Amino acid sequence: MTAQEIRQQFLDFFKSKGHQIVPSAPIVVKNDPTLMFTNAGMNQFKDLFLGEAAIKYPRVADTQRCLRVSGKHNDLEEVGIDTYHHTMFEMLGNWSFGDYFKKEAIAWSWELLTEVYKLQKDRLYVTIFEGDEKEGLAKDQEAYDFWRQYVDEDKILLGNKKDNFWEMGETGPCGPCSEIHFDSRSDEDRAKVNGATLVNADDPLVIEIWNNVFMQFNRQKDGSLKTLPAKHVDTGMGFERLVRIIQNKTSNYDTDVFQPMIQFIAEKSGIAYGKEEKTDIAMRVMADHIRAISFAIADGTLPSNNKAGYVIRRILRRAIRYAYQFLRFEKPFINQLIPILAEQFKGVFDELYMQKDFVQKVILEEENSFLKTLAQGVSRFHVYTTLERGFTVREEEDSWEMMTYQTRYENERSNMLIAGKFAFELSDTYGFPIDLTELMAREKGFSVDMVGFETELQKQKNRSRAATAIDTEDWIIVNEGEESEFVGYHDLEIHAQILKYRKV
Ligand code: ATP
Ligand code: MG
Ligand code: MG
Ligand code: MG
Repeated sequence: MTAQEIRQQFLDFFKSKGHQIVPSAPIVVKNDPTLMFTNAGMNQFKDLFLGEAAIKYPRVADTQRCLRVSGKHNDLEEVGIDTYHHTMFEMLGNWSFGDYFKKEAIAWSWELLTEVYKLQKDRLYVTIFEGDEKEGLAKDQEAYDFWRQYVDEDKILLGNKKDNFWEMGETGPCGPCSEIHFDSRSDEDRAKVNGATLVNADDPLVIEIWNNVFMQFNRQKDGSLKTLPAKHVDTGMGFERLVRIIQNKTSNYDTDVFQPMIQFIAEKSGIAYGKEEKTDIAMRVMADHIRAISFAIADGTLPSNNKAGYVIRRILRRAIRYAYQFLRFEKPFINQLIPILAEQFKGVFDELYMQKDFVQKVILEEENSFLKTLAQGVSRFHVYTTLERGFTVREEEDSWEMMTYQTRYENERSNMLIAGKFAFELSDTYGFPIDLTELMAREKGFSVDMVGFETELQKQKNRSRAATAIDTEDWIIVNEGEESEFVGYHDLEIHAQILKYRKV
């Protein structure tokens, strides 16, 4: 079954159960100060759950494009390293707004997975909320009993409040949830553990695919719970994970969602996918990141130095660095993935197809601009970390550069720490977002002195504030590299301010 068919079957199935199919909301959230990007299917229905908007359809289903790269849900560091967390992914969902509840939700998830998609029943596990005495919350016996109609006792696991109780926020709708996991281990490996059940935290081949949230309480300001008069269902299933399971793969990247892009990258780089872990990760990251970037741009967020735009720029620069360093793409390349992606999402998320030329152009420009400084930054990073480790630098490396770094950062050096000053220089001069420096550091076994980095950042902010002050005030500061030297002042208050900026 192709990914397209799998998506369509989900929508058709819930349509046949009386659901209205609605379009995905944009990935970039406008007018909500609490959220930068859509990170779950329910986001666009928040006001319905809060009782602040009228319910038009009591049953709704859709596929929502989501981004988990910031805030509470940030999966960026897993992406490419594991094979089932993406930055951008589709969340298939069905909702009941005060209509059906646990019985139907559970029955339909089971029917869809086992009868439509024909997943092997004994490879499915479910979790339910075990209760929490301190909070006065009971075990979700109802969910347990409904699941028992389909699933053996030993495949229903109890989960704690952290994993199996969902809350929208400090106050508002909340309730127990029930997750469905799929075990893709070989029969042989499953036999070895003697049928013991696992969830994805224990084995990468056992993955969570679907979360069913049952909103039945309303958390009050004083922390107490009131039973909701109208109960809701909110579900979310990871589309790429579902496809992987149906297509009988052990990695999301081996499905037809990602393979067209991965094969294109492999062909153009001349390196086969599956040859080496390092280059595989690079290909996975590129194929993943391009989706996040493209949809963010198509939904109206251009890469920039501010807020959401900077998140997008950071992701893009990560991808460019992987492409450059591990696959030797020294010229802009990533933008060439857009036609493949746009074609794939034609008729699903037409926003991308309709703007594909524009999106490609924006990415090309970003690539052009970052590639101007990337090589130099990478080589400086190499010199810095090599020296730090006490390795001898290859002869062709610039000895002047070595010397400068040696003397300039001598004091901040401790064994495997990247000095804040150096991280700042990478960011300021070469445009390396700090998380990129951290990533590169990690690859070499280093960590970054983040406090030192923040200090440098603050210093720069102060400097630019002082610089603005210079324009408007009648006194002078001489900037000498990093030193801000005070040479004259007119009143004591200003003097005090200047002293703060001055390097002692
Ligand atoms: P996980 O524990 O694997 O991180 P989650 O519990 O954070 O998942 P939910 O918030 O319950 O995920 O989201 C519902 C579904 O969306 C999950 O069951 C999973 O299938 C999918 N999903 C969540 N995060 C990602 C991601 N980063 N990439 C792909 N699919 C995801
Ligand atoms: Mg998660
Ligand atoms: Mg989970
Ligand atoms: Mg979950």
